[in-house]
Amino acid sequence: MAVEYGKSGKIIPKRFTLDEIEQASEDMVGFCLACGEEAECCEPDARNYKCSACGNSQVFGAEELVLMGRVTP
Ligand SMILES: [Zn+2]
Repeated sequence: MAVEYGKSGKIIPKRFTLDEIEQASEDMVGFCLACGEEAECCEPDARNYKCSACGNSQVFGAEELVLMGRVTP
């Protein structure tokens, strides 16, 4: 997935479905908010891990994504 930037040049964070989050929590994977890639071996409370796909430090664990409101209703 491509990284999207807003008018101010800030990354527009991706959103994830509850199914994706629940599966990620079980599998100990996180998601990159910048490009949407899955990151393996990611604790549920991981924050700002570096993404191997896009290089941004925007990988968060499943629980963090819920706390941050990145889940689509
Ligand atoms: Zn990424």
